[in-house]
Amino acid sequence: MSGTSKPGRVSLVGAGPGAADLLSLRALRRIEAAEVVVHDRLISPEIMELLPARAERINVGKAAGAHMVGQAQIHAILIEQARAGREVVRLKGGDPFVFGRGGEEMLALREAGIDCEVVPGITAASGCAAAAGVPLTQRGMARACVFLAGQLADEGTPFDEQLDWPALARPGQTRVFYMGIARLPRIAGQLMAHGLSPDTPAAIVQDGTRPGQRVLACSLSRLLERAPAYGPRPGLLIIGETVALSPDYRDD
Ligand code: SAH
Repeated sequence: MSGTSKPGRVSLVGAGPGAADLLSLRALRRIEAAEVVVHDRLISPEIMELLPARAERINVGKAAGAHMVGQAQIHAILIEQARAGREVVRLKGGDPFVFGRGGEEMLALREAGIDCEVVPGITAASGCAAAAGVPLTQRGMARACVFLAGQLADEGTPFDEQLDWPALARPGQTRVFYMGIARLPRIAGQLMAHGLSPDTPAAIVQDGTRPGQRVLACSLSRLLERAPAYGPRPGLLIIGETVALSPDYRDD
């Protein structure tokens, strides 16, 4: 910190799944007051348009193959900007604390003695479930809902980080896989190998709440056949009985 200048503050702001009117009022206020916005690649154009013209934008998005800003470097940028006395918004997709590494950023800022506030956002599970008409819990159908990171299904995941497939295969719960579409064959294979019925309803939601939203909802076995046509765009995978309540559900 230099001289008498007061250190700035960092707000870890959840931008939600994409639709601008799903931002919280607090998120919008922080965005409007920002002097610098450190953002991910997947922030929707609608939300990027809300950034004040005077705010500096730093894209730390991780484009596959392109220049990648590591997590340690992101921490360094946030600390440096805050120490320069600026109002810093760290804008993240969905909710900062759900598969967004917001916890790591909060700890790094705390360690550096910088004021840090977390503004929650609508996480992809809530946004996509609402948009697709899939209740995440439902009396008599789903008593629990589990959020999972698809990459933990990969072969080679260390044993102590592997998913608890026998527990996940039990009926009566909704499983939501983030970053799971490309891993659908492995996820479905593990669940079915542990006893989940191939008739269990399942859905892929791509670009949930955004203009190009696509919902594919059918049985898990059919989803395995149809999913490749959905291509490489990221999306959310939802597996559980309540998917059958979606108006998009087809059981043929
Ligand atoms: N912190 C974020 C998740 C980041 S991980 C949150 O709370 O939502 C990125 C993954 O989120 C993507 O691979 C995808 O699985 C999911 N995702 C984010 N936004 C999405 C959207 N609009 N539609 C579908 N899936 C989305």
